Amino acid sequence: RAFDVASPKRTKEIIQKHGFTLKKSLGQNFLTDANILHNIASAAKLDPSKGALEIGPGIGALTQQLAKAAGKVVAVEIDGRLLPILKETLEPYPHASVVHGDVLKLDLGKLWHDHFAGCSGVSVVANLPYYVTTPIIMKLLEEKLPLEHIVVMIQREVADRMSAKPGGKEYGSLSIAVQYYAVPDIVTIVPPTVFIPQPNVDSAVIRLKLREAPPVRVEDEGFFFEVVHACFAQRRKTLSNNLLAGLFGKPEKPAMEAILAECGIDPSRRGETLSISEYASLANAIWLYRK
Ligand code: SAM
Repeated sequence: RAFDVASPKRTKEIIQKHGFTLKKSLGQNFLTDANILHNIASAAKLDPSKGALEIGPGIGALTQQLAKAAGKVVAVEIDGRLLPILKETLEPYPHASVVHGDVLKLDLGKLWHDHFAGCSGVSVVANLPYYVTTPIIMKLLEEKLPLEHIVVMIQREVADRMSAKPGGKEYGSLSIAVQYYAVPDIVTIVPPTVFIPQPNVDSAVIRLKLREAPPVRVEDEGFFFEVVHACFAQRRKTLSNNLLAGLFGKPEKPAMEAILAECGIDPSRRGETLSISEYASLANAIWLYRK
């Protein structure tokens, strides 16, 4: 406890002692609430046989909690000015190491091989830099790393979109991309007041439990997501108009209508009303028609 950095007072002291200045452009909003940090770490269900990958440790507030729970912790930090601070805050935890780099450019397969080979399971746990939330989560999902959970603090609005069900305005291609790979649940909503400095928006801790297999069978993943994107290109347009604008030429209209009829999907519906399995049957039918 004596080493814990998670309080507004300790955070300010550490920042001052090292003459550190926070960079807004790197999404540096440090969490100072011990309870929330504890809740984030426990949502990942870590134990000493498991590993945790943290993205953006900052001064190490969450890293310390992860190191108390997991057998191995690797924290990737882009800002080299934080390395001497992390050396101090992580000093009591020799099984926690810091990798200096941009997570979007790192070879995560190699990182897994180098650090997590002996772990019974690995989760990503982080208070993410908000300017790159979606690219980071999509990289983790699309690279199909052997992950158990992704537990991350993100903007509340993005968490709502990731976990949205069909029918509402939050439901879109991000909901489908995330739910294709994982089952989301929102762990808690977090107000701006627990950060230094305070962000302008509410935050949420979301947990993504990685699926062993996708919930639908698709002929081609790339094409499936292409169809989803086309159907959401203009949210106020009907499915039929979006498909005609993005995937079919005018002369193909009868073929497109036949495909929609075959799938039992009314062409006047909007993209936001289709479930993942309806998108899968639509994409598969178009794929087979094209072949
Ligand atoms: N984990 C700390 C906490 O909870 O207080 C800091 C979280 S802060 C929201 C985000 C952190 O991510 C910062 O330390 C920032 O320097 C780092 N960061 C920003 N972009 C990054 C990137 N592309 N790769 C790795 N780290 C990044």
